[in-house]
Amino acid sequence: MQAAQPLSTPLTQRISDAQLLLADVAKRFSPATLASSLAAEDMVLTDMILRTGLPINIFTLETGRLPKESLEMLDKIKQHYGVEIETYRPDPAAVDEYVKNHGLNAFYESVDLRKTCCGIRKVEPLKRALTGKRAWITGMRREQSVTRGELDVQEYDSAHALEKFNPLAGWLEGDVWDYIQTFSVPYNALHDRGYPSIGCDPCTRAIKPGEDIRAGRWWWENADNKECGLHVQPVEFRKP
Ligand code: SF4
Repeated sequence: MQAAQPLSTPLTQRISDAQLLLADVAKRFSPATLASSLAAEDMVLTDMILRTGLPINIFTLETGRLPKESLEMLDKIKQHYGVEIETYRPDPAAVDEYVKNHGLNAFYESVDLRKTCCGIRKVEPLKRALTGKRAWITGMRREQSVTRGELDVQEYDSAHALEKFNPLAGWLEGDVWDYIQTFSVPYNALHDRGYPSIGCDPCTRAIKPGEDIRAGRWWWENADNKECGLHVQPVEFRKP
């Protein structure tokens, strides 16, 4: 790998560890897949996978409520790497029923209605995306929120009955941006406008200096509720 500028020794080691882990996952847990939110961390992993030609599938959940900047990432990835990211969409009948019974933006009214919306637009499509896979990979980091402080690099996801890998678990936000800058990785334009974490348009906002990284996600809820149902299943922690 040719770096455009020198990287710190700890980051060089973290990159090497993540690449070795991805190569090992591709070898031992095929078929494996990366769940990409099209945000910065997932672009680091996308770059590692596509530039080294690892046989790991990449998909995203097109919830129907993504900001246009996230949708533009699909074209940016295709232009940069010549690869199309797979997209999984919610069941249209389930979306129609939710909107008819509760309203398009009912997720602001209660945690239950928010989780129901995430269930329809994210959790069910994720289940389809993981069907037939032996492992999935995420860009989650411990530093991101109180709900991720104990995150390990390898877990067993008993809800989906497959291994789950978080190669960037120990990375800091600065590591992600150093990687993106050094390797000229395309990234979501919203990151330049104060969005460290990006999800659906109506449920994500920019944060102010000093605020928690996940403060812009479901900001009307308590910090310990802030997961969308994709990552809260009971897991067994394992060392790689
Ligand atoms: S993040 Fe918001 S719009 Fe997206 S699925 Fe969850 S509740 Fe619905």
